[in-house]
Amino acid sequence: MKAKILIVDDSKTDRIIIEKMLSDCETLTASDGIEALNMLDENPDTDIIILDLNMPVMNGFEFLEILKSDKKYKKFRTIILTNYDETEKEIKGLKAGAIDYIRKPIHMESLRTRIEIHFKLLEIEKITERKLNETSLTLETLIEKAPIGIAISFLPDYSENKENITIINPELEKITGRSRENLISSGWRKILFDDDIKKNEELYNIFLSGITDKYTTELRIIKPDNSIVWTEMTVSALNMGKERKYNSIFLIKDITERKEQEAKLKHFSETDALTGLYNRRYLGNILNSCEKNKKAALVLINFRKINYISLTYGYNFCEDIIRNTTKLLKTLTDKKCRLFQISFERIAFYYEDYESNEDLIELCEKSKEIISKNQILYNLGIGIGILETHKYNYDAENTIKNVSTAAERSKIYEYRFFDSVLESSVIRESLIKKSLIEISENKGNDFVYLQYQPIYNIKENRTEGFEALARLKSNKLGTVSPVEFISIAEETQLIIPIGEKIIRQACNFLKTLQKKNFNDIKVHVNISAIQLIQDNFTENLFKILEDCGINENNFGIEITESVFSENYTAVNKKLGILKDAGIKISIDDFGTGYSSLAMERELNVNCLKLDKYFIDKLSDSEDEKTITGNIISMAHKLGHKVIAEGVEKIFQKDYLIRNNCDMIQGYLFSKPLDEEDIFKFLFRKNFAFGGIYEI
Ligand code: C2E
Ligand code: CA
Ligand code: CA
Repeated sequence: MKAKILIVDDSKTDRIIIEKMLSDCETLTASDGIEALNMLDENPDTDIIILDLNMPVMNGFEFLEILKSDKKYKKFRTIILTNYDETEKEIKGLKAGAIDYIRKPIHMESLRTRIEIHFKLLEIEKITERKLNETSLTLETLIEKAPIGIAISFLPDYSENKENITIINPELEKITGRSRENLISSGWRKILFDDDIKKNEELYNIFLSGITDKYTTELRIIKPDNSIVWTEMTVSALNMGKERKYNSIFLIKDITERKEQEAKLKHFSETDALTGLYNRRYLGNILNSCEKNKKAALVLINFRKINYISLTYGYNFCEDIIRNTTKLLKTLTDKKCRLFQISFERIAFYYEDYESNEDLIELCEKSKEIISKNQILYNLGIGIGILETHKYNYDAENTIKNVSTAAERSKIYEYRFFDSVLESSVIRESLIKKSLIEISENKGNDFVYLQYQPIYNIKENRTEGFEALARLKSNKLGTVSPVEFISIAEETQLIIPIGEKIIRQACNFLKTLQKKNFNDIKVHVNISAIQLIQDNFTENLFKILEDCGINENNFGIEITESVFSENYTAVNKKLGILKDAGIKISIDDFGTGYSSLAMERELNVNCLKLDKYFIDKLSDSEDEKTITGNIISMAHKLGHKVIAEGVEKIFQKDYLIRNNCDMIQGYLFSKPLDEEDIFKFLFRKNFAFGGIYEI
């Protein structure tokens, strides 16, 4: 092929893909309609334009309008790029003057045959134009020998709207499996597949009315043996003198093979390779195209933690479980209730026209029964979410996201309906997420700030330091607690940039303390596992401390035991480096995690922070009190200091003093304070320990 092709698409990736597919053609590219028009002015010998419809500046339809309205552009042949299920756009594009369309994802062979066919047509058109002026014998030979089906119809009286086909070539007889006589006597309508008749007539009428002088469409022709041939037909006006004003030429190519390939590609892109179920993309198309008020629900099953199993038993094993289970769940489906594979660990029923919620609940119960037969899935636990699509106005993506949230928030082996409570929590979560993104990109007015809660050294009767506690200040939500936003920041990995801001703020606070001569006071910052396991965490931390001029001995980090579940040896080594440099390492919420005191011996930490749970226990029985005291003494034996958290009552403090606890933190001593109140706190006069410090 030596065709010259202009590719107009705002997506650079798509332009490159198409250019690669057409590497043997001469290609030009433009990223919007205006650039494309300039290209055409510079390259009037362009043969074919491939046009994306969705573009900024000047979209595909506007571009087509210009081509149609300006004489100098009229001759260019345009193929539009559409997506599956955009028949309306395809027809609109053809009406606007495009001669063909091709659907995304683009199939290389399909694109190439189309270009080839249009290029051939173009050549035939050029030859025909030339030959028409020569002898009719040459024209006849050309038609006889053409490797493409040709029919020429004469319509002497347009008002009667009757087809009158007079010329048909052998190739067309071959394609249709019918003789010339048979074709002439039966006419188009009789040999076309029923579903295609209307579309063809619509296009043909537009053509006859003169709005466009050529069009291409795909039609199914029924052969005498009832088999179907897919054809691509281009209809073009033939000007053969005044008396034959409405003549047209039909060029027809057999594209059955290409259509089969396309169908395979479509099937491939719409189904899950593992289970053969229709996939999320296909479900998305259904959800996006169904009527707004149609009663329907999505029932999504989340095989929680299935990925853990694959780590132990391998992927093949897990794939077998999923394959077999979905096979069984498929027995619950019928015309109204179909099953889709959303992702490896999530499947969903799309249930239309159910009678009542009872039907949905019954479906859940039956699914649970089937799933529970598999011991491994049963042990892992599943979650089921239900979302009634007609009650919400979500697009497919949000529908699937929200029903997944309902499944995640359901109790193990229970179902949960997506309702207004979940909806508002989803909205709140997404506002928090947005705010965190803005903060990490230094945009907007929201910010994260720190409050500082004093840690009191009960042995030396002085303030040992402060724990920095983060708060999110949002324009829309006010002050948001870390309990709420830290987990979102962790899920989205935003804790990494935000955590760095927190460390910097804490260091600046330390600097301010030192300027006022509080040189011994320490500041502890809470660090998430995700931050700590970053390869460059230690390096970055040392760099920040150096930037701010902070001595490592004044700085501490608080981590939870969960950090050791990642990679115990590597994490402990990292902590060793920090500890050796003088940074104080504390294990937060101690006693609530899984690590044992025996393990603490090897840990590179300075201090255990005894969880509030053990302090609250102090009001209980003597036995429980003994546990708290024992933990303190064992921690001491292992060489760790102990901070008691959440101390609210005097009797708790007294017990802790008696049991040799090193430090305490809690409302009894002080609530977390804003930075500007810290100095009032530190300079306070006549402070008698034992009363709450109120500001
Ligand atoms: P945490 O590290 O265990 O912090 C102690 C929490 O207990 C704080 O809640 C504090 O305000 C509260 N608290 C202190 N004394 C008392 C008391 O006497 N009674 C009661 N009932 N509560 C007390 P806060 O500030 O809401 O922080 C909650 C959690 O958020 C923290 O628990 C920590 O896990 C996390 N967090 C806070 N700031 C950060 C941060 O900068 N980074 C990371 N990764 N996590 C943070
Ligand atoms: Ca903490
Ligand atoms: Ca804690």
